[in-house]
Amino acid sequence: DAHVAIKTEILVIGAGQAGLSSAYHLKRRGLAQGKGFIILDRNPEPGGAWQHRWPSLTLSTVNRIHDLPGMKFADAVEKQSDTVQAAVAVPQYFAAYEEAFELPVFRPVNVKVVCERGGRLRVETDRGNFSARGLINATGTWETPYIPDYPGKDRFKGRQLHTRDYRTADEFVDQHVVIVGGGISAIQLLNEISGVTTTTWVTRHEPRFRQGPFDEEAGRKAVALVEERVRAGLPPNSVVSVTGLPVTPAIEAMRARGVLERLPMFSEITEDGVRWADGTQLTADVILWCTGFRGSLDHLAPLMLREPGGGITMTGRLATQVARDPRIHLVGYGPSASTIGANRAGSAAATGLMSYLEL
Ligand code: FAD
Repeated sequence: DAHVAIKTEILVIGAGQAGLSSAYHLKRRGLAQGKGFIILDRNPEPGGAWQHRWPSLTLSTVNRIHDLPGMKFADAVEKQSDTVQAAVAVPQYFAAYEEAFELPVFRPVNVKVVCERGGRLRVETDRGNFSARGLINATGTWETPYIPDYPGKDRFKGRQLHTRDYRTADEFVDQHVVIVGGGISAIQLLNEISGVTTTTWVTRHEPRFRQGPFDEEAGRKAVALVEERVRAGLPPNSVVSVTGLPVTPAIEAMRARGVLERLPMFSEITEDGVRWADGTQLTADVILWCTGFRGSLDHLAPLMLREPGGGITMTGRLATQVARDPRIHLVGYGPSASTIGANRAGSAAATGLMSYLEL
């Protein structure tokens, strides 16, 4: 019966780093699975978005994956070389974690919409409905790739794809590839693709290479900048965009090969390439948009959490709580959109929400 909803106190949507950390802390604070909390996830397997990362993203090329609370990656997953795919190793770790802490995740369950119903939150999914008093939303960004709008994009006869669709550089042999974006993904994919074919790199701003090491202090500063934005109700920028690009040996090698020469953003896409405002044209077969992601929050639209400017005003200890609706926490969002941020946010959200709901 579509009208019967399974009741729980707190619903956790998403079982990536943020959702699992939240669930761990809910359980540790004595909330029972089922009546107390339920975790839903759209993916078929454990691992959150990591199960979809491109094959060449390995444990040696990720920035750093922090351990989930209570279990070390190294203890859960057999010692593997650094060349193992993140898309293989991280899902193994998450699977072991879910099992060890007995955190059964209902999957695949796709949350379509959350709305207000008689003072509770009604959560409609493709596998029935749920009713909760509080919500921890941990849906990440992977499902919401962002591509900026440039005139002519429908005219282009070549191939356009986003970071999310990238699998391997070999697909582009003998094609000229324009890579758009100034973040870490752009650099990594530029590195791989420029090894097998010709490339042009375009970014909106002069890329910002980090001066000095990226230590904890630098990390804290970067997170504080994003936190300030969401507390003011502005849309978050990505944590990476404020940390700057690391100067790694791989990047030094790219510079030496001459592939780090960057051009400003083109102004228009043509049938067979791109054109700049001064009339310069470039013929290209592929445009690869490494232009980032946005929070996957469409299912929350009926709750009207957004400010007129499009941001969501966040409050609470680590800015995980939605100011307009204190029953809702967003984890893995804005300042907590990293593995370490998601860990901390999960703890803050679990504690904050249980105390707000007097559980
Ligand atoms: P996810 O891992 O995306 O999990 C969200 C889950 O929610 C998914 O399983 C998804 O299917 C599910 N979901 C979404 N919508 C719904 C819905 N409507 N209904 C049901 N379920 C839903 N961070 C680092 O700290 N170090 C790194 O090296 C690093 N590398 C990165 C590399 C790439 C290419 C990218 C894109 C990100 C990287 N990050 C890194 C960021 C990091 O992966 C995340 O911020 C972090 O893992 C937190 O994930 P999450 O739990 O918020 O989201």
